[in-house]
Amino acid sequence: MTSIIPEFARRLWQDAPMGQVITDIEFRVVAANATYQRLAGRSMELLEGVSVHDLVHGEDLGEVVVGGMLLRFGRLPQFERDHRLVQPDGSIVWVHSMSAPILGEDGQVTHLMSFCHDISARREAEQALRASEAQVREILDALQEGIVVQDAHSHILAFNQAAREMLMEGTEPLTHVQPGTLHWDALDAHGNALAAENQPAWRALRTGETQEDAVLATRQRDGTLRLFSVRAKPLFRPGATEPYATVSTLIDVTERRSSEQALAASEERFRSLAEALPMALFRTDEEGRYTYVNPIFEQLTGVSLQTRPRLLDVVHPDDRTEVLHAIRESISTGRFHARFRMVAADGEVRWANSHAVPARRDERMVGFIGCVEDVTPLVEAQEETSRLAAIVESTSDAIAVIEPGGHVVYLNSAARERLGHGFGILDGLRLEHLFTDLGSRLDNEILPAVDKGTHWSGELTMAGCDDDPVVVSATVVPERDATGRLIRLAVISRDISGRKKIEAALTHQANHDSLTGLPNRALFLELLELACSRAALIGRPLALLFLDLDRFKWVNDRLGHEVGDELLRAVAQRLHLITRDGDTVARLGGDEFVILCPGVRDEEEAVMVAGRVLGALERQPFVSGDVELPITASVGIAMSTGNDHPEGLLREADAAMYRAKAQGRARFELFDDAMRARTQRRTELAEQLARGIARGEIVCWYQPTVDIRTGEYVGVEALARWEHPSRGLLPPSEFIELAEETGLIGALGASVLSQAAQQTKAWADEFGARAPIVHVNLSPRQLAYADLVVEVAELIRETGVDTRLLCLEITENALVDDVESAVAALNRLKELGVRIAIDDFGTGYSSLAYLRRFPVDVLKVDRSFVDGLGPDPEDSAIVSAIVKLAHTLELESVAEGVETQAQLDQLRAMGCDLAQGYLFSRPLPVEEATELLRVGRSAATVPEAPTPAAPLSALLP
Ligand code: C2E
Ligand code: CA
Ligand code: CA
Repeated sequence: MTSIIPEFARRLWQDAPMGQVITDIEFRVVAANATYQRLAGRSMELLEGVSVHDLVHGEDLGEVVVGGMLLRFGRLPQFERDHRLVQPDGSIVWVHSMSAPILGEDGQVTHLMSFCHDISARREAEQALRASEAQVREILDALQEGIVVQDAHSHILAFNQAAREMLMEGTEPLTHVQPGTLHWDALDAHGNALAAENQPAWRALRTGETQEDAVLATRQRDGTLRLFSVRAKPLFRPGATEPYATVSTLIDVTERRSSEQALAASEERFRSLAEALPMALFRTDEEGRYTYVNPIFEQLTGVSLQTRPRLLDVVHPDDRTEVLHAIRESISTGRFHARFRMVAADGEVRWANSHAVPARRDERMVGFIGCVEDVTPLVEAQEETSRLAAIVESTSDAIAVIEPGGHVVYLNSAARERLGHGFGILDGLRLEHLFTDLGSRLDNEILPAVDKGTHWSGELTMAGCDDDPVVVSATVVPERDATGRLIRLAVISRDISGRKKIEAALTHQANHDSLTGLPNRALFLELLELACSRAALIGRPLALLFLDLDRFKWVNDRLGHEVGDELLRAVAQRLHLITRDGDTVARLGGDEFVILCPGVRDEEEAVMVAGRVLGALERQPFVSGDVELPITASVGIAMSTGNDHPEGLLREADAAMYRAKAQGRARFELFDDAMRARTQRRTELAEQLARGIARGEIVCWYQPTVDIRTGEYVGVEALARWEHPSRGLLPPSEFIELAEETGLIGALGASVLSQAAQQTKAWADEFGARAPIVHVNLSPRQLAYADLVVEVAELIRETGVDTRLLCLEITENALVDDVESAVAALNRLKELGVRIAIDDFGTGYSSLAYLRRFPVDVLKVDRSFVDGLGPDPEDSAIVSAIVKLAHTLELESVAEGVETQAQLDQLRAMGCDLAQGYLFSRPLPVEEATELLRVGRSAATVPEAPTPAAPLSALLP
């Protein structure tokens, strides 16, 4: 076979440093080079024809044979293997062999060839290393901690037994496990897959820093998690800056974790409980800082853990010292309780109750666990209760609390004082001991009333310790439990004996006239009402006498109020003397008296009584000092057969009295059917007037005033007319008095004023400088209205009228009744800028002295005097005097009711400024009045000394 190898190749082959051997297909050596001969420890002679298998170590033979067979039958292109050769002396040579088939020309395997490389030195070193490695492994395997070595790609290079057990749950010895057989799906502590970049080994590689205390988990076959605490340390080659591998140390913490988890779970349970409880809960550390607060606590206090608040932070500054004291105490007592104010989340100060216990660990105090409760409503209720208690104790009303049976269980201080009972000696005390007249009223009256309603009130007599029993006004209030059962009764009683006296006095005062001691109007009306109903009952009429003294005003004015009062007392006495027992004398006010005579037979008897009254008054004059006056009165009589309205009856008697006055005083008149009819008519008329005013049926007619010197119309007087729907145009005499009596004058006057003001404005616009001054009449009643000035001012503002063109007329009579208020009212009117005239001057009793005090511009001489001009020298003298007076006071004088030229001439002679009357014009509707004003001048005036024609004619339209 050597021939097949050329010489040069043979030499090359022979000397090659790699052992080479060629065998036949039976593995028998055909050729072997020198190196192979050395490896085999045999020369060629000894090798030729020997099976190579005989050279292989027994332990490696199996594989070598199988590999050879596979080559021989063409199943493998080549086969590589480390194996041992055994030399004839038994020494062993490790070789790395690589074998391949040699094919014949027919493609069949004819020979096999192997290249063998001596690897003994390497194998020895390996062996030594393996020995020391084994030692390290032994140590590593003995460790409790699992150790895993991973390369720079996180591939596992090595791990110890503990790691294997931990990660694979197996117990196979480490030596049989090759790197790469450890499969480890890293999870996090919750069992979720952990991304590579979050694994500690990977992080150690990346950062070059040791990763401490990471937690990893694996899932065990039973599905539970096994948890490890992992420490991953990077490994560096000398001089390298990047790690090439990591060593991870794993400690099984499953058990520790589960006890921690159990703790966490119990904590979670506590937390959910704490959060569900309707109570503010907290936990603090040993420094008193909150470590836990539940949501209610946060809501209540506004505390948030982020600010690391302390226990005392929620306490109102004023209460901190006290709470601190309680905390100190609690450390020794093991219990904390305090009530304090806190500033709640909403900024309001609220009351809190707090209970807490120190939390301990190993006998060491580590903080507090406790709760806080908002007790503001409770505290407020307690305060309220103690406030109420204080009130109950301090009130002067006696208060007793009793059981339904009548036993007294509580007396307040007023009651104790009243009864002389010390506190706490209520034993056996019963309600009837407190109230002497109680009798069976508790059972029969009070309890049933309390049962039905909410309380009982009434008068009782209360016993006293030293003074006599007193009348008390008592109220019994029940106290019930939640089911509505009566459990107690509070009896509140007030001493009303004093009030009773005052009441009696007040009643008398309220019902009697202080001057004469007679019943007053109010009481009289009550008595009259009683008498009316009794009259119907017994079937006998009653007589009502209405009495008004004649000229009492004169006495008052001339002799003074004191004499007036004396006169009234004297009259009262005389009336009292002459009346029968069943009669009642009363004073209605002023000089008006009434006598009620029940049970008279008929009108005749009533008339007799009236005669007797007048006689008693007139028989003796009234004497006061050196004054001696006859007393007369006017008496009106009204009869009732019963059931009349007392006010109506009084009005009838009043009306009859007026008739008596009108008939000449010092006499009586009986209210008869004619009067009744008239009264009724007036009532009807008043109703119509009210409607009429509202409907605008009251209109103004105007009568001009004339300048006596020039004949010019300088003014007009607005005079009210009632356009009555059925009776036609009515003059003021038909309704002014009625309006005053019924109070309708306010509305009526306002209507007239408004119309007149508007007309004034209209005329001012038309006539400019020649505009007439418009006079408007005010009734005395109107002047007394507080609102009058406001109304007039408002009217002026609304119409925009020039106030100098308005003149308000007030009758002299209106001014004398109450001079002070009249002056005040006129001054305020005057301030508005209007003119003021005194109407009907000379008819009133106005003392001329007053005249200077009134802010007046015009005096109107009453028609009655103008009437008498000429024939009556007396009237002429009066008119002349009034005109002179007006001039002295620098007032304008106006003569009213001028009907004749003679009167006019006389007035002109007297120097009277203006005149008004039928001679010039009757009152006219507004259109006609306007026509007249356009003419500008009255034809009736014939001045004594004619005025220059030119200026006058210039004024004519
Ligand atoms: P008075 O204020 O004195 O008014 C003058 C009255 O004399 C008017 O009567 C007028 O028509 C009448 N008169 C004028 N010239 C003559 C004349 O030459 N001869 C006669 N015989 N009479 C003349 P009238 O309009 O009937 O008014 C009567 C009274 O009614 C007025 O007297 C006045 O006091 C009152 N009055 C009229 N209108 C109002 C009013 O609006 N308010 C108030 N409170 N009273 C008014
Ligand atoms: Ca007038
Ligand atoms: Ca008049």
